[in-house]
Amino acid sequence: MAPRIEDQDLIDRDERLATRRFGVGHAVITSVVEDQIDHIPPELFFADATADAVGRHPWLVPDYADAQGNVSLRVQAFVIEIDDLVVIVDPCVGNGKVRSLPFWHDQSWPFLESLGSAGVSPDDVDLVIHTHLHADHVGWDTHREGDGWVPTFHRARHLYTAADLEYARTSGMDGEDVFGDSIAPVLDAGLGDIVDRDAALGHGLVLEPSPGHTPGHVSLWVESDGQQALITGDFLHHPVQFAEPDWAEIADADVELARATRRRMIGRATETGALVLGTHFAGRPAGRVTVAGDRWRFVPA
Ligand SMILES: [Zn+2]
Ligand SMILES: [Zn+2]
Repeated sequence: MAPRIEDQDLIDRDERLATRRFGVGHAVITSVVEDQIDHIPPELFFADATADAVGRHPWLVPDYADAQGNVSLRVQAFVIEIDDLVVIVDPCVGNGKVRSLPFWHDQSWPFLESLGSAGVSPDDVDLVIHTHLHADHVGWDTHREGDGWVPTFHRARHLYTAADLEYARTSGMDGEDVFGDSIAPVLDAGLGDIVDRDAALGHGLVLEPSPGHTPGHVSLWVESDGQQALITGDFLHHPVQFAEPDWAEIADADVELARATRRRMIGRATETGALVLGTHFAGRPAGRVTVAGDRWRFVPA
């Protein structure tokens, strides 16, 4: 059984990219960071946003925004250890991938080393869960070997929703092939499973449909000993969206559906008191949601 950790436990000392652990009942959830970009003008990711508008929410500083209203975003995976099961959720961008976005293209991040520092080897992983199949959520599923891409988590079952497999096959940015380099090799190796969008996966892990960002997007509930956590995926990208839930993110496929999903899922997180782990949240990525007037705010753990 994984060690019981009551509160966040910092297991390395690089504050900016710190690997952090959170206890949920007898589950332990670890954030393993691939990269974080700070001081981003918010309108680059949220068309309706301005730095002034972000600045109206001072509780975002310093973890999620700077004093000028520019935002931080990170790419991280969450590792869940529960009973004897090791699960990784949304394994980031990966190394050496041809990508249209320059800050994701042909990288050489020490992600597997960070995973190792958290006590997990790729050989240990039993299950890979994807909230959706954008390039920053499937990258480490494969790594380069010779001329090809081979599965990294070679013992693991990799879960996909049918809707997002189809979406990944038929969409994507010019000049990159996420399906070909990061999904097809896993399917070809017989390591992929298609699951329902509300599947109960055992060990207190339950998917909930949260469509809009992509058609088959799901979020993950973790329930253990009466405690709950929610791993968001991309139904929201930044804590400012608790206060500004109508701000669409540039990659939201169906903006109106994404808005409705965001409000519904934030409402569920508030009612349940769940620990919310934001897939792209910088700094302190886990916390709880409180009601603030007719909106919400995020209180980091
Ligand atoms: Zn996405
Ligand atoms: Zn993403």
